Amino acid sequence: MEITNDKPIRMWPGTIILQSPPCSWDKCIFCGFSKDCLTSVQPSTREFLKQLDHYFDTYDDEEQIEIYNSGSFFDDEQISAESRVAIIRRLSDENIKGITIESRPEHITKEKLKSLTREFKGKLTVAIGLEIADDTILKKLNKGFTLEDVENAYCILDGMGISSRVYLLVGPPFVNDPKESALNSVRYAKKIGFTEMSLIGAYPMENTKGKRLWENGEWLPLKKADFDGIIRLILEIEPKVDYSSEGLEGFWGN
Ligand code: SF4
Repeated sequence: MEITNDKPIRMWPGTIILQSPPCSWDKCIFCGFSKDCLTSVQPSTREFLKQLDHYFDTYDDEEQIEIYNSGSFFDDEQISAESRVAIIRRLSDENIKGITIESRPEHITKEKLKSLTREFKGKLTVAIGLEIADDTILKKLNKGFTLEDVENAYCILDGMGISSRVYLLVGPPFVNDPKESALNSVRYAKKIGFTEMSLIGAYPMENTKGKRLWENGEWLPLKKADFDGIIRLILEIEPKVDYSSEGLEGFWGN
């Protein structure tokens, strides 16, 4: 297969998965995103813009764009400061009204955010993959950050009037009671003030430690019916969450 840095990994209306080197952390035990990254060399700014050309040559009527890069938009090892600004400027020139990007909390700084808000006057949302509001389990998952780190990043976003989204895993490894864990995480995210919440059914991704935990019988991912039951309870306390069990269903072959 030809590896090229001027096409996104995947795209569909409203979403672009940019080709970039893997997440510089790349240690979360459940995460297999790095295998999506076909390159270890950071695309040039020109190549990133060509990835956007590819998207806009195919889709041209979306007003909201979500940009992912299998890691952090603000990770300098994945996307340089110059490329970040050029990407956002290009989206602004396309009259995009809302942009969502994702980042680990340690990469979220006022300076990096300002470099984007100078270019883009629409609604910017920064998503953080918190996964679970439990420092003990975050450590076991090898997330490499704590709740305090997430709260600090949230404060930076909130202080600059930037919207925030949190990703939470339902039924990750090491959790004894997936229902209580998910409800606690949603209550936490609500208390902190995240603007949006997305809940994802956790499943063993290929070539990860999480997959080995499942193979060794140390992690039993939820069945779809259990995931749905937990989501019903969550919707009672937070009706605006969005959720996906797509990976979980794919895993169980539903
Ligand atoms: S920070 Fe995100 S992309 Fe990086 S290893 Fe963890 S889950 Fe994967």
